[in-house]
Amino acid sequence: MAQSIATMQRTTTEKPLVGYVHSIETFGSVDGPGIRYVVFLQGCRMRCEFCHNPDTWNIGVGDEMTVDEILNDAIRYKAFWGKKGGITVSGGEALVQIDFVLALFKKAKTMGINTCLDTCGQPFTYKDPFFSKFAELMQYTDVSLVDIKHIDSAQHKRLTGFNNETVLAMIQYMSEHGYHMWIRHVLVPERTDYDDYLRDLGQYIHTLNAIDKVEVLPYHTMGVKKYVELGIDYPLEGIEPPSAERVKNAEHLLDTASYRGYAS
Ligand code: SF4
Repeated sequence: MAQSIATMQRTTTEKPLVGYVHSIETFGSVDGPGIRYVVFLQGCRMRCEFCHNPDTWNIGVGDEMTVDEILNDAIRYKAFWGKKGGITVSGGEALVQIDFVLALFKKAKTMGINTCLDTCGQPFTYKDPFFSKFAELMQYTDVSLVDIKHIDSAQHKRLTGFNNETVLAMIQYMSEHGYHMWIRHVLVPERTDYDDYLRDLGQYIHTLNAIDKVEVLPYHTMGVKKYVELGIDYPLEGIEPPSAERVKNAEHLLDTASYRGYAS
């Protein structure tokens, strides 16, 4: 009896698992297949020079929400999802809160909801406890949107503060297991918009399995005002978005037209 009271006390005082949420978009149309309920989680360790959401960087802050709170809200939009849509978890960097994403996707799958993970792969490691959680998360993830910020590791480090080994290791793992991916690449003049790098990236993507889509995202300056508000210097001051012609060139070199999988 004493033991069961102790157990009851532990149960009643245990804090439920919460995610730290930056914001929610109820009708997302670009973050995965179909119409999606997009949860932007708070926290990212990268510092991409082109990041338009520096307000998502801080870890351990944001609105605390439980899995049930998110799913109860999301399910109200189910009628709009059709066959392809569902829930996307983005960020910040979603894998910074892998315990929460795992719990969310696990429950979402019991409700028949399509799940999509948007990640830059920085937290990935083959070390436990992360790796076991990641391997389990993949069981409950229908498709992942994976950013390759730069195919050259030194340039990746200059652009984001980290080399690209972790993201490429994660992509390799996903490719070997046939987990569906969309690859996304931000085209930034003076950083990524060079034919040699784009050709290398295109060749690398061709070696991968289960790529449903490859997207070139033109760099834009819409996040600049957030830097001003936060009092942070904007790293790409003076760099303009790429021309339509350069975007077309990047799409050609990445051979985007040849990736048209079921999830697009
Ligand atoms: S990974 Fe995303 S959220 Fe993090 S710094 Fe880069 S663009 Fe910003």
